Amino acid sequence: MARVISGREISEAIRAELATAASAFHADTGQRPGLAVVLVGEDPASQVYVRMKGKAAEAAGFLSRTITLPAETQEAELLGVVAGLNADPEIHGILVQLPVPDDMDTQRVLRSIDPAKDVDGFHPLNAGALASGDLTVLAPCTPAGIIEMLMRSGYDPKGQHVVIVGRSTIVGRPVASLLLRNAPGGNATVTVAHSRSKDLGEITRQADILIAAVGKPELIGRDMVKPGVVVIDVGVNRVDDPSTDRGYRLVGDVAYDAVSEVAEAISPVPGGVGPMTITMLLQNTLEAARRQHAAAGDAVAGGG
Ligand code: NAP
Repeated sequence: MARVISGREISEAIRAELATAASAFHADTGQRPGLAVVLVGEDPASQVYVRMKGKAAEAAGFLSRTITLPAETQEAELLGVVAGLNADPEIHGILVQLPVPDDMDTQRVLRSIDPAKDVDGFHPLNAGALASGDLTVLAPCTPAGIIEMLMRSGYDPKGQHVVIVGRSTIVGRPVASLLLRNAPGGNATVTVAHSRSKDLGEITRQADILIAAVGKPELIGRDMVKPGVVVIDVGVNRVDDPSTDRGYRLVGDVAYDAVSEVAEAISPVPGGVGPMTITMLLQNTLEAARRQHAAAGDAVAGGG
């Protein structure tokens, strides 16, 4: 049976490190790393994510601010809230929970965030920097979490053939960019497949490391992987299950039990990539706080 790559356990270890680092930052600067999460509307899944992010930030000793705006909020009002957070020295990281209501322009909202405070890594400047191989950019949280899971489990992608299924701007593309960087966690040979790819199984069977980010329950079966593969399953899909209290259960994009029989290692759903995403959000916030503090020090030293 495959070894389980537990994002939950890896997350706990990293969050303990982050709590120590946040307390050192506080001792140095008198400030706590500050994260603001903005939610527009009452989407139940978004409410859960926002609550989890706030709780995780507080548990690690960060300053956490959650701003909830009604669904009928106008875009200009949201941009005003973001502008206030951009100017707030207590806030080092800003995240606007997506999706925003349909009548808002997502790109305009993302562009309104100060790129230095863009801890989700979705501002087009940061997305572009990542795609051009920039080693200093704050990377989007889910892709960064995937790399961290692999590295901390001893599966360095360097020189490996990594097949990614999915080309979204949130997961597939940025994780490909991270894997291609000439840096730790990178230097992989990368193939990206998507809905138009011909004979998906032929492609996925070539993977030393397989990353599934599709959103289709158990799309990847046992016959689609080679024995010894390392699998990171990003998908989170609800399937009906009358035997549970909620009437459904969560499954990934990979047929977990069947693939576990042949894989070297596999991440579960839930308890895999999900917790890592929030952990990397905290890591980005701490890094953003350090950089902003250093930049403020430079400005004072330079008389600016
Ligand atoms: P997305 O934007 O819908 O992208 C899905 C990608 O999968 C697209 O590139 C699509 O191809 C490709 N695809 C769809 N059907 C396919 C098929 N039959 N064969 C091959 N490729 C196929 O989704 P996403 O935002 O990347 O999310 C993917 C999954 O990850 C979802 O289940 C989501 O809930 C989950 N997720 C989890 C986390 C976490 O923290 N755990 C974070 C983000 C996302 P085309 O481009 O050709 O349409």
